[in-house]
Amino acid sequence: MSAAPASRALFERALAVIPGGVNSPVRAFGAVGGTPRFVTSGRGAYLTDADGREYVDLVCSWGALLLGHAHPAVIEAAAAAMALGTSFGAPTEDEVLLAAEIIARVRPVERVRLVNSGTEATTAAIRLARAHTGRDKIVKFAGCYHGHADGLLVAAGSGVATLAIPDTPGVTGAQASDTIVLPYNDPAALAAAFAGQGERIACVIAEAVPGNMGVVPPEPGFTAALATVCRDHGALLVSDEVMTGFRLSPAGWFGLEGVRPDLVTFGKVMGGGFPAAGFGGPAAIMERIAPAGPVYQAGTLSGNPVATAAGLATLRAATPGVYAHLDRVSADLRDLVSDALTKEGVAHRVQNAGNLFSVFFTDGPVKDYTAARRQETWRYAAFFHAMLDRGVYLPPSAFEAWFVSAALDDAALERVAAALPDAARAAAGASPP
Ligand SMILES: *Cc1c(COP(=O)(O)O)cnc(C)c1O
Repeated sequence: MSAAPASRALFERALAVIPGGVNSPVRAFGAVGGTPRFVTSGRGAYLTDADGREYVDLVCSWGALLLGHAHPAVIEAAAAAMALGTSFGAPTEDEVLLAAEIIARVRPVERVRLVNSGTEATTAAIRLARAHTGRDKIVKFAGCYHGHADGLLVAAGSGVATLAIPDTPGVTGAQASDTIVLPYNDPAALAAAFAGQGERIACVIAEAVPGNMGVVPPEPGFTAALATVCRDHGALLVSDEVMTGFRLSPAGWFGLEGVRPDLVTFGKVMGGGFPAAGFGGPAAIMERIAPAGPVYQAGTLSGNPVATAAGLATLRAATPGVYAHLDRVSADLRDLVSDALTKEGVAHRVQNAGNLFSVFFTDGPVKDYTAARRQETWRYAAFFHAMLDRGVYLPPSAFEAWFVSAALDDAALERVAAALPDAARAAAGASPP
């Protein structure tokens, strides 16, 4: 691992004033070790750190930057909006345009409410589902992440579900006990949960494609089974497209798979690198939101004019050509990684849904969280640092998706290709801790 003295010094200062030195846990490199890189700038496909080193960025602000860093159209739109004032706490035309753009792309959505983060979007969608159905319980899947709201931090293991033990201190047993956790891609477990408690379940929330345990695509028919079981029991299906929305296609995963959810949550790409997110659905459900209806939801900075302008500019620039490019560079990267690891005899599995992919250091197939956790994460740590040392910034955890951007060109791909043989050797030579 090469030294990064400026990042190291900044991290030490950060540790004295911020818990763990970071404002979101995975940034601290806890899973891979070493010093988190402090970023000074980003341009196109590249990041520059405090030590002046440049990296091809395959994280892209965890998927928010569909077009790459500092895209001229986005910067221009944000700057123009900023010059007119940064926040009004009153409605603006751009909010109408952004909502209309989302509705035009994602057919089941007839109304959309803008919020500031994916966490807010899923929290409000679940509140709405409970209000709409008059029921308390929600179903989520082990390994799916929906933000850091209390009732959604119940993540893993049938023991956790049964005993209603939350996965993090600070979440009450009552909040946890309203969350039923099921294994992903398991229609039998789903049917059993609804057979037992179907009348009490307000909604099923699922990542459209789980990407927060590595990428675990729904098996053929699984999303349709979710929709059917919800419809049969009067529950709502909440499709969490915070990661996949406007990334996998103009209409996200819905655009590729076509299964109709009741409510959809968005974030990441739609903010163009600023804090903007949203949730939407049919008018008949969404009109229950205040002030149209009784379900309270609000936000001082919601629909912020700078974030809204950046999001709108991003979506307008995300043309069919951009999606074709993302699909191509994603396929190229998947082949490059897999070839390099195969050459070194490293057991691995590259899984994807559209352009979203991740690399599991296991024979796979990985269809749920239990399988995802079987991977040899210590091989990933060695692989990650070898790539980092050679100028490629990967997600600092084996349980995260890799994100491509429209700025990823042949020169950037060549840099990744040049780094891979050494990184594959590092993975092959790694030993468990
Ligand atoms: C990132 C993410 C969230 C949370 O969004 P924040 O903006 O970080 O609150 C929710 N759901 C999914 C699927 C995500 O990937």
